[in-house]
Amino acid sequence: MSYKVDYHMHSYYSDGTMKPTDLVRMYKEKDYDMISLTDHDGVDGIAEAMIAGEALQIKVIPGIEFSTGYDFDGRELELHMLGYYIDIENEALKARLTEIRKDREVRNEKLLAHLNNLGYELTYEDLLQRRGQTYVGKPNFARAIARKGYEIENLWEVLDTVKKDKISTFEAIELIREAGGMSVLAHPMKTKNLAELRSDAFWESLEQILRDLKKHGLKGLECFHPSATEEDSLRLVELAGKYHLHITEGSDFHGE
Ligand SMILES: [Zn+2]
Ligand SMILES: [Zn+2]
Repeated sequence: MSYKVDYHMHSYYSDGTMKPTDLVRMYKEKDYDMISLTDHDGVDGIAEAMIAGEALQIKVIPGIEFSTGYDFDGRELELHMLGYYIDIENEALKARLTEIRKDREVRNEKLLAHLNNLGYELTYEDLLQRRGQTYVGKPNFARAIARKGYEIENLWEVLDTVKKDKISTFEAIELIREAGGMSVLAHPMKTKNLAELRSDAFWESLEQILRDLKKHGLKGLECFHPSATEEDSLRLVELAGKYHLHITEGSDFHGE
């Protein structure tokens, strides 16, 4: 018997568009057995998702996705680290998430000022899409700019001009472990500044990174993700086997 699973999705508690309960219901209607909500840098949607899972009889695993910084031969790579089975009441985790939220707010204010300087009239309120929204990411900027009718040709480049401090990859692995969870490297095929490499250089680099992360406590590799072709996935599964990593699958669903 095979299970239908999806271990990677986002709700409106980060940059997704759906309420956790609606997300869980949608997966239940599609006959999934097990899912995990993995919002960026936060766990605010987990309690709601777990309650919905219990009511609708679908297993929901508490998860998270960190955007982390990894020093790779002197260059900083942005690696996304998924954490599963985390205790969302863990004090160290909660404290760090509060700090990350503040770093994000600082980045947002600077980015807003930068856009204002470029002549785009945008306020913080324009970035909010619902009451009580606490997470504001680059997609919120993109949507607000579109709503205002502005067209910025190199939009994502502009949005990337103001960087925010990132938690290090090792710290994220440790934080997840401390909260009783397991860490899984997300969508390796989508890693900026790595995915652009020639194929052989890419796979060599990835293997080097996995070896290093494994030493620091990495437990799994997201081998199945929309960014990976069938051939990529086979190679990722092979790598996971070589380094004794769990193989996971996620759609990275952000809403309809
Ligand atoms: Zn990601
Ligand atoms: Zn994601």
